[in-house]
Amino acid sequence: MTRVFASLIAHETHGFNRFPTTIEDFKRYGYAVDDEVRQGLQGDSGWGGLFEVAQEFDWEVVHPLSAFCMPSGPATNETFESMWSIAERSLLQDGPFDAVLWFLHGGMMCEGVDDPEGEVIRRTRKIVGSSVPVAVWLDIHANVSPEMVSLADIICGFHTTPHIDLNDTAIRAARLLQRTLAGEISPVTYSVHPPVLAGIDHGRTTDPDAPIPRMLQRAEEFQESDPALLDVSFFSGFPFCDTAVTGASAIVVSDGLHDACEALAEEFGDEIWASRDQVTIDFVTMDEAVDRTESDSDKVGPYLIGDFSDTPHGGGYGDAPNFLRTLIRREVPGAVFGPMWDPGVVDDALAAGPGADIEVELGGHSDPTHGGAPIETRAHVVSVSQTGDFVHKGPFSEGVPGSMGPSARLNVDGVDVIVVKQPDAIYDREQLRLFGIEPEAMNVLVFKAYNHMRADFEPICRGLVYADSGGIFNFEFARFDYSKIRRPIWPLDQIDQAEGETFRAHTNY
Ligand SMILES: [Zn+2]
Repeated sequence: MTRVFASLIAHETHGFNRFPTTIEDFKRYGYAVDDEVRQGLQGDSGWGGLFEVAQEFDWEVVHPLSAFCMPSGPATNETFESMWSIAERSLLQDGPFDAVLWFLHGGMMCEGVDDPEGEVIRRTRKIVGSSVPVAVWLDIHANVSPEMVSLADIICGFHTTPHIDLNDTAIRAARLLQRTLAGEISPVTYSVHPPVLAGIDHGRTTDPDAPIPRMLQRAEEFQESDPALLDVSFFSGFPFCDTAVTGASAIVVSDGLHDACEALAEEFGDEIWASRDQVTIDFVTMDEAVDRTESDSDKVGPYLIGDFSDTPHGGGYGDAPNFLRTLIRREVPGAVFGPMWDPGVVDDALAAGPGADIEVELGGHSDPTHGGAPIETRAHVVSVSQTGDFVHKGPFSEGVPGSMGPSARLNVDGVDVIVVKQPDAIYDREQLRLFGIEPEAMNVLVFKAYNHMRADFEPICRGLVYADSGGIFNFEFARFDYSKIRRPIWPLDQIDQAEGETFRAHTNY
């Protein structure tokens, strides 16, 4: 029987978020060991795809760890080492393994480890040796390091943003592993990393003219004439990681060393460069966003606004109140805002209960210079949830149980505000229904969210726009004090492609 090691360590780190990420944060969001991994296996998570392939080919999968955490500041060294030690013990004691599949995000930063994902693969390779194929599953927002590429046989990244193909990505990787074990293929991964800090429309795939859908189409055509092409992935990079390998990249997996596939990787690298300033979404000021909701009021459904720069899904603090201030000042009717991270206000709301009025100093506690000072007012508690538990029904994380934790719905000067005890984003209609809000019936939805909310909300909304409230998930990169990223790099440096360094790598261990 084929014996496969698989584990997940996934964190998207905002290098300029001042709160370090600890093992307790992972345990609060999505941490499972051994049998718990299989018990928690529901919906689109990556694990489902692996187990589907495992069943088909009669694999025995050893899965010591699945650790996911909401984006936040750099992980402490202890956190990284405690997760690695669980994987290491299993790699040493539960083997020998025929193959390895690592589920990694690719956008992690850790105090004391420059390239955490590269380090995981390097340490894994050291234990399993050179004869065991290693596949890596990555988020589309990964900063792929040349070392990861040189040490892995197979790298497969998501093909969608919003990310709705986590299981499918695992199936791609696992099938390639199976074909490798069967002796059908000898996978070689090629990568090209042009000097682009954030590329390919930040990974979006909702517009067919965006770079990723175009390149996927090109890969399909290539594969028809050259079956040596096994798989492709494109990574936007996660620009808030201050590391030497931060940036966009293209990956091509071929059957053996293959010049045409290497050339295809080069072509995709050039395409990442050529499309570097193509953006398929609208960014406006907060007041312009409110203006748009008014001018489009004859259409059906709510207007969706991304308070993107404060979204915890990108490492924002999730407590910037400036957009709420704008909604109150503009007296926007039927507006929902959130989720606002404010543990003190949640505690007060839960203690007071529905129907009560409470004095609040809402939000703005993490860093008032990024999104405003607290709003001092009297709020009405509409409803509360002790657990915040729900199950995703939209396409993003469909079927996966979620939790907003203890949380409440407040009426704050005429605006419905969801307040939470831990930073969170809204991306599923169930998160509003939990509080008795029917999203379809509302006028304006302002969420601390970026891309993922589109999967479930865009079909019911009359419009979509993004506005910057001053948070740290902000694309004016010049405001960040980078020290480790390679320079020059676009757009921090207005350079030609040849002026910056393009990294290239291929499987070579
Ligand atoms: Zn992502």
